[in-house]
Amino acid sequence: MVYLVGAGPGRADLITVRGAEVLKSADCVIYDKLANPALLSYARPDAEIIHVPKRIGSGSCKQEEINKLLVEKASTRRTVVRLKGGDPCIFGRGAEEARILAEAGIDFEIVPGITAAIAASEYTGVMLTDRDYSSQVVFVTGHEAEGKTESNIDWLLLAKLPGTIVFYMAMGNLDFIVGRLIQNGINEETPAAVIADATLPTQTITKAPLNLIANKCKQEKVEPPAIVVIGPAAAGNTSLNWFMKKPLFGKTILVTRDRHGNAVFADKIIRQGGNPIKFDTIKIEQLTQTNRFLQALTKFNEYDWIIFTSPNGARIFFDYLQSLSKDARVFASAKIAAIGTQTAAKLADFGISPDFVPTVFTGKELGNQLISHTNLQSSKVLLLRSQLASNELIDILQQAGADVDNVPVYTTVTEKGDCDWLTEKITKGLIDWLTFTSPSCVRAFFEQIKPDVVKSGNVKVASIGPVTSAQLEKLGVRIDAQAAEHTIDGLLDAVEEREKEN
Ligand code: SAH
Repeated sequence: MVYLVGAGPGRADLITVRGAEVLKSADCVIYDKLANPALLSYARPDAEIIHVPKRIGSGSCKQEEINKLLVEKASTRRTVVRLKGGDPCIFGRGAEEARILAEAGIDFEIVPGITAAIAASEYTGVMLTDRDYSSQVVFVTGHEAEGKTESNIDWLLLAKLPGTIVFYMAMGNLDFIVGRLIQNGINEETPAAVIADATLPTQTITKAPLNLIANKCKQEKVEPPAIVVIGPAAAGNTSLNWFMKKPLFGKTILVTRDRHGNAVFADKIIRQGGNPIKFDTIKIEQLTQTNRFLQALTKFNEYDWIIFTSPNGARIFFDYLQSLSKDARVFASAKIAAIGTQTAAKLADFGISPDFVPTVFTGKELGNQLISHTNLQSSKVLLLRSQLASNELIDILQQAGADVDNVPVYTTVTEKGDCDWLTEKITKGLIDWLTFTSPSCVRAFFEQIKPDVVKSGNVKVASIGPVTSAQLEKLGVRIDAQAAEHTIDGLLDAVEEREKEN
């Protein structure tokens, strides 16, 4: 079975539910340059992934190779997904691929996608239809026109169209397109808009009357992929440009956690319109085979309280428990505390609703608030957390008379990133914010990047809370925003607040 799937216009979450569903089932994924690679995270880890970056103008030969590949994979794999940018059959050669499959007698299904014209217009407030001024809209390829003596495009009809014209693949050919329309009698002051990188944090919109649009795009160095909208609709209404008004729109924000944590954080940044760059500083290593951990496992029924101080600790602990075919019932009699809402949410994934969450999400507050919430005199308390966590929480609990068992479930080690690349980006002012969510991320980051690079640049620094800030201050790094609520959501709120002040 071959699925021709529309990946949507750019942003990964604009794929359809059906598209994501078939991607999850694929044995083989063949994807285009315009399909967001982030979508590959839906694919099974064992799926074969093939990238076929077809460049405009590279001719039919390349497409023939893709066609051959499709037929070949369809005969050796159960489920093949052909993932194409936007909608598979709007200027995507999906029709051609479907024909090839039909001729070869291969079953196929087409999963529509949101095409660039629709997404670009709605992400900029340029409405393609409007009952006041546009009752028809035409999608045209701007590529076909180039150098052709016999064009399939009816320029006269387009020039007379009372409505909206959208050109795809027009950037290499904009002067020619505008020239043909004007020759055929369109008003040369008709509004035009060029929307590039639609739905992505790098989206731009360039507006001008038709006769000036090509020059304006050159001046502003507009790069493909971009669509060109011509007609009264292109005048747009800036108050409808909701996407580019998002609080973090256009801001490039570096995330410095581990791979999993960075993926979660990057997603949230994208939702606020920002442009995340992932720099994995640490790797989480499980410590579930140590004597200390294995011993603790045997006496869960003895503990009065079990405390989790990070989502990582909770995830690793419960995954391990599951691998032993056990579940939360092993400590049914113990009460559970979580350091904050994120850890509580992770526990909820495993069916646990914590008995205690402090109002401020630090180890110190967790300790102080827990001891005023309950009498810990002579109670047995188990801490399941990072090997690198400080002793502050232990001291507070012990002073309240608790018998504390501190059992590390994971540690973090430095992951080497591309420091030269990052140093250059920071130095050139191409990054707006560096974000830090734990002291270990700070340590690992500055083991690789000299603090002076950060101090001398324009880059701003955001920290999740006082413990992380203290680590930054030790290195003499100025902190521009610190989260009031010590979660990544709180950190983004602090960055947004700071941006508003500017
Ligand atoms: N099948 C795709 C179009 C493929 S043709 C779809 O339905 O969208 C490639 C052209 O699509 C590009 O030259 C550009 O004109 C347009 N395009 C694709 N993604 C775009 C994006 N994110 N922003 C603006 N234009 C885009």
